[in-house]
Amino acid sequence: MVAIGQEITQNRLYSVAYEANKRAAIAVPQDGIEAFEQAFSRETKPMASFILGQVLENAQLAIAEERPMCGDTGLPRYYVKVGNEAKIEGGFVALEHTLRRAVADVTQDVQLRANRVHPLTRQNPGNNVGMFAPSVDYSFEPDADWIDVTAVHKGGLFGTDYRMLFPADGTDGIKRFLLDNLAAFARRGLSCPPVVVGVGLGGSKDQCVVLSKEAACLRTMGDRHPDPDVAVLEDELKELANRTGFGVMGVGGDTTALDVHVEIAYTHTGGLPIAISQFCLAYRRSTARVYADGRAEFRDDPLWFTPYYRRAGLE
Ligand code: SF4
Repeated sequence: MVAIGQEITQNRLYSVAYEANKRAAIAVPQDGIEAFEQAFSRETKPMASFILGQVLENAQLAIAEERPMCGDTGLPRYYVKVGNEAKIEGGFVALEHTLRRAVADVTQDVQLRANRVHPLTRQNPGNNVGMFAPSVDYSFEPDADWIDVTAVHKGGLFGTDYRMLFPADGTDGIKRFLLDNLAAFARRGLSCPPVVVGVGLGGSKDQCVVLSKEAACLRTMGDRHPDPDVAVLEDELKELANRTGFGVMGVGGDTTALDVHVEIAYTHTGGLPIAISQFCLAYRRSTARVYADGRAEFRDDPLWFTPYYRRAGLE
């Protein structure tokens, strides 16, 4: 039973943020395993089939040996969804301190590669913590007293790109941008395909980039947008991506994109901004819900895109 009015303690948040981050580093979520198994079973090219088999074996070994499933940590980040009735001991400043501490401790304990460096001096603090690192994004949920903490180790850096289209470019322009994006990065293995492609469509430039990353990292395989027009576009883009034949690590194969997720934001009448983010084959994510009474439940689906989060009207 949920205890309304109780504070969620920092101790509890630390243990959950630590565990979510550790799980994200080690264990591929079940929807990812199933997508890789399906890709493996339908692959017709021998080299691609061999690599997909190795990906699946690697996923099992990482869990058995409690080791990171990729030597590249990517960029660890948190997505936090806060119930409107949730109370946090010490408030959000304490929560942010806790999340940073969890990233530093997991980096040391799981021996994650320390990827975060000063962009000019390349000075490396050695713990994946620094200015604006880890990034923490928030959203809110009505009628809830829990906090969802999602840890993502986002790889596939080279697959992120932006383009300003005109409304008349329409879906043809969107498809052209996807092909250009895949050709630029996937065929050279730069974004480590097969990837989950996140497309942010509309909003402003910064909004569509943010949405593309959330679409890539925070929806499960096979999930479709509730807007039927967007859902159709997701299917078309996935088919198009896989018809390119770039395949796993760009060696040529039947699966370049495990899935494509599109998120939309209402935009300026004169433009059609679009961003693409690729979530690499190191598909790493873990979510925990912390309730006011201290219970915590771990799950694979972040449940980030709630009807409230995608709200369109006044209420
Ligand atoms: S892009 Fe992904 S799979 Fe490739 S090295 Fe980086 S984290 Fe690993």
